[in-house]
Amino acid sequence: MTEVLSEQMGSGSHAGALLEVDNLHVEFRTRAGVAKAVNGVTYSVDAGETLAVLGESGSGKSVTAQTIMGILDMPPGKIAGGEIRFRGVDLLKLPEDQRRKIRGEGISMVFQDALSALNPVFPVGWQIAEMFRMHRGTSRGEAKKKAIELMDRVRIPAAKERVNDFPHQFSGGMRQRIMIAMAIALDPEILIADEPTTALDVTVQAQIMGLLAELQRDSNMGLILITHDLGVVADVADKIAVMYGGRIVENAPVYDLYKNPAHPYSKGLLESIPRVDHKGHELYAIKGLPPNLLEMPTGCAFHPRCPYRRDNCVTDAPPLYTISGTRGSACHYWREVIDDGEH
Ligand code: SF4
Repeated sequence: MTEVLSEQMGSGSHAGALLEVDNLHVEFRTRAGVAKAVNGVTYSVDAGETLAVLGESGSGKSVTAQTIMGILDMPPGKIAGGEIRFRGVDLLKLPEDQRRKIRGEGISMVFQDALSALNPVFPVGWQIAEMFRMHRGTSRGEAKKKAIELMDRVRIPAAKERVNDFPHQFSGGMRQRIMIAMAIALDPEILIADEPTTALDVTVQAQIMGLLAELQRDSNMGLILITHDLGVVADVADKIAVMYGGRIVENAPVYDLYKNPAHPYSKGLLESIPRVDHKGHELYAIKGLPPNLLEMPTGCAFHPRCPYRRDNCVTDAPPLYTISGTRGSACHYWREVIDDGEH
């Protein structure tokens, strides 16, 4: 008989990991009702490990990350349950001054849109240097030196000459490098990158992913990569959590998911990216739209779009079933999905 994963096992989480998100629930109170944006998410990441969190817009992947960073717990957002433990301490119970210290020094984040995240009226070097001045009280001269070192580290050519340039004088890829420099300035133990390459062309995307992987290796950071694009994370992630409608629907070591997904949604995502080992295959597009969080479908939230749907899917919400080890799928018919991939 199929077992249901325990909370800890459920999403590839293991007790004692550097960062553990445990059964997190986040809601937004709107005029039209309560939107359950995150619905019992559990995952973990350890030092030196890369977790890719995958899903369409509205799946809850970015809301979870923003909650980890402590930038969401204010109206209309509300943390309705769960814990976020960093080194075993629940961040949700810490006073704001301690939380602020962890932000930047313990856990740091790179946002999607570097142009709006950077201040247009200050030179980039000044903005990087501010991290040291604000958090460490470093002198102006020393902070500027460190800013140049960091610009070098993220491979901005002629860093010394460009330290006084403004954000608009850099390309999109270079601006994203500057954001990464700011995010790693204080040597965080965990780096969260939220769609860090979405606005960039394919070549630059690969370069930024390569840079993140290299920085992670060099400093043994835990890395959480949030993306809607499975193709972008294939080479760099150790494990994947696939999110849909605020829940994790599949978690797996990256190789296992690529080889043979165990949830129809992951399968659809995988079939919609071009793969060199599937030459000649037609690309697939998942039909339908992501669920409306104010009016979630009954039973399995994926049922309106699912080619494997049976009658009970409309009424019975699937738990996260154990497949093996830390692998899980929230699909009643995961065996069938796996079997299809093997033929
Ligand atoms: Fe599809 Fe049913 Fe599985 Fe949901 S539980 S993914 S509707 S087969």
